Amino acid sequence: MDLIDTHCHLDLVEKQGLALEAVLADAKMSGVQAVVQIGTTLRSSRWNQAFVENHTGDLQLFWTAGLHPEAASSLADLEELLSFIRTHRDSKGFVGIGETGLDYFHTTEFVENQKVSFQRHIDLAEELRVPLIVHLRDDRQYSKEKTQTVRDAIQMVRGKKNLK
Ligand SMILES: [Zn+2]
Repeated sequence: MDLIDTHCHLDLVEKQGLALEAVLADAKMSGVQAVVQIGTTLRSSRWNQAFVENHTGDLQLFWTAGLHPEAASSLADLEELLSFIRTHRDSKGFVGIGETGLDYFHTTEFVENQKVSFQRHIDLAEELRVPLIVHLRDDRQYSKEKTQTVRDAIQMVRGKKNLK
């Protein structure tokens, strides 16, 4: 079976003290052909770019860059992140913008900042014609009653005809 892991956080795996090349070799043995390494901060997005650039194994690696909604309580890195994405639009293995989105699970204190960040990611993804990776979460358990992030997100992408 050929598998693609479309949403991986190898930088967090490394933080837990695991050897990444061994983790990737295990994945390959289990049938994983390709991994998409997802950005969550400016720092992790840069890490992704360098990791994919320098990777020499036979497992295919792709990467994205973005500011996770839980990291969007501060917008201090947003402009630099967006220009980093512009710079790397055509870099090796770059396949998308994100993850970005809305997360009301832990706190709704930073919703306005999350929306500013999400909107900027949406606009850039549409402009550069690259896929957007969206994280939406209201609660630990998904239920019909708790879909505020989904409703807010639909409002924000409405009319974005070129958004992937
Ligand atoms: Zn994620």
